[in-house]
Amino acid sequence: MSETSVNAEATAASLSIRAEVLDAEDALGKLRERFTLPDGLVYLDGNSLGALPAGVPGRVADVVSREWGELLIRSWDESGWWTAPERIGDRIAPLVGAAPGQIVVGDSTSVNVFKALVGAARLVEASAGAGRDELVVDATTFPTDGYIAASAARMTGLKVVAVEPGEVPSVLGPRTAAVLLNHADYLSGRLHDLPGLTAAVHAAGALAVWDLCHTAGALPVELDANGVDLAVGCTYKYLNGGPGSPAYLYVARRHQEAFDSPLPGWTSHAEPFAMTPDYVPAQGAVRGRVGTPDILSMLALEASLEVWEGVSIEAVRAKSLALTDFFLECVEAYVPAGRVECVTPRAHAERGSQIALRGGNAAGVMRELVARGVVGDFRHPDVLRFGFTPLYVGFADAERAARTLGHIYG
Ligand SMILES: *Cc1c(COP(=O)(O)O)cnc(C)c1O
Repeated sequence: MSETSVNAEATAASLSIRAEVLDAEDALGKLRERFTLPDGLVYLDGNSLGALPAGVPGRVADVVSREWGELLIRSWDESGWWTAPERIGDRIAPLVGAAPGQIVVGDSTSVNVFKALVGAARLVEASAGAGRDELVVDATTFPTDGYIAASAARMTGLKVVAVEPGEVPSVLGPRTAAVLLNHADYLSGRLHDLPGLTAAVHAAGALAVWDLCHTAGALPVELDANGVDLAVGCTYKYLNGGPGSPAYLYVARRHQEAFDSPLPGWTSHAEPFAMTPDYVPAQGAVRGRVGTPDILSMLALEASLEVWEGVSIEAVRAKSLALTDFFLECVEAYVPAGRVECVTPRAHAERGSQIALRGGNAAGVMRELVARGVVGDFRHPDVLRFGFTPLYVGFADAERAARTLGHIYG
């Protein structure tokens, strides 16, 4: 055996022993039992579709066969279907640092970005916003946010100013109406400074709208403490709500009275069953509703949120950072130098819960990883994404993923 392969084996042995020790010491390790994951699979794609919480299939079966099949129309009242959007919003609230009554669940993130941006433009216009005609958006954003922002701007007479998030403070001024930012970038995994940027937006007299798709359920968000104005997020990534599970809209309590939804559907009416021709908006978070809620996926989401019972988001964050640190250490040890480049910041304060590596033949490499039981994903043109959901990913998973990547690039 050559000296290099002896060294490589020693490295692998020491990293896998370290992983074992870290897993044994991990207070969140047993939470994996709350999920149904195939044996032997390393699942690092929870930043795209979270794993299946074990309680969901039984709950969905009950909703379908009993609540729908037997109780039928009565379930809107008796099974709590009608109030599910605001009830589940309150269940998500503590995970994003929001007091009750400010979050409503429903529709997709795309639709909620639209409600939030047009709503923000109208709030600004209603509060002496003369001369504020710019909507600042993240130029590197997940495409849907940018597309919707462009349309919302056209409808409200605003001009889109697209800049890198780091440059936001330099474009803020008396013309800024609102700013749409991502808490963490979907591609690089970079975490943006929500407290600092929100304060800068407010100092300029504008409103801050945050997209939490890549942070809710992965790290503390603290919407209320930071005075965020409006926020949206999806529930099928780190919140494990299931494919296409409904998104949510946060409207800070101080804005609710004036919040003028661009989609004032009948379920956001103060008295929906009065069936009046005049629209009178409901008070509170309910004002963000639109039409009949999608009960099956909404109640699957509600059941999935039970995995958070007794779990602190601070502990989740601590484990996420330890996992991504350890994964990077393993990648450095296993992957030959120069084959991949980490595009996720090393600094904890700038890191979300994923690691993005740029590498040659990334699409083919990810296909090979998946074939070997390590699931991450590929993003055009050359990025390998590895999402770390601390509720069900362990240190041995991180070690095996990096070792497998090393074999493929070796
Ligand atoms: C995942 C994600 C979305 C998804 O939007 P949908 O309407 O649910 O398809 C939107 N924005 C960001 C930033 C995302 O990460």
